[in-house]
Amino acid sequence: MGKVGAIIPAAGKGKRMQHYFPKQFLPLRDHPLLYYTLKVFEECEDIEEIILVIDREYREFVEESILSPYRWEKLKDLVEGGEHRQESVYQGLKAGEGWEWVVVHDAVRPFLRPSLLKEVIREVKEKEAVTLGVPLEDTLKEVNKERKILKTLRRERLWRIQTPQAFRYSLLLAAHQKAIKDKFLATDDASLVERLGKEVFIIPGSPLNLKITTPFDLLLAQTILETGIW
Ligand code: C5P
Repeated sequence: MGKVGAIIPAAGKGKRMQHYFPKQFLPLRDHPLLYYTLKVFEECEDIEEIILVIDREYREFVEESILSPYRWEKLKDLVEGGEHRQESVYQGLKAGEGWEWVVVHDAVRPFLRPSLLKEVIREVKEKEAVTLGVPLEDTLKEVNKERKILKTLRRERLWRIQTPQAFRYSLLLAAHQKAIKDKFLATDDASLVERLGKEVFIIPGSPLNLKITTPFDLLLAQTILETGIW
């Protein structure tokens, strides 16, 4: 069986200009948020190696506050990311040479259920390209600049996409290389694989696997930890 590696892009800078600290490093109960994300991967028996992608400016902080205080036995490399998420993942991918399968997971999604991660890894070996996603609950409408509704989208066919996303390593590498060549930028990895004309399948995820982006999300995250539903 080929090696399964994980890339955790954590190089988002947050809104540094307004003196915000990147969300992935904020304290959440007893640990930095990123600790919870890394722990799920460290403890998953199907993951062999982890590559963490960070911004150069935070290297020292990450080493002191997130690496040194804990034992991360699977952490293979700490690499520096790029301007956009896609570039950060690509830097991580290059460091994962030799893997057969790659799982990409946002650092800012700390509440990934271990059972869902295992399911993603099991499914990718059959389907080559998979992502977690949840069906949409709200009605979505396309709107113009004057806020006039242009059309209502069919909700039954719309999903909100989460991470982890997992792929055959060579497939994701080819997808990134083609995107670079075409100067195509996307917000997730599945889009790059879709562009190659390959099928990508959704595995139903969980609303708990939220992406912490706003102060409200941070409040939610604290509640999730305190109430123990996690
Ligand atoms: O910006 P976005 O919400 O897509 O961020 C998702 C994940 O990608 C976060 O964990 C963030 O730290 C990471 N990221 C990155 N490099 C960037 C931008 C975002 O690793 N340049």
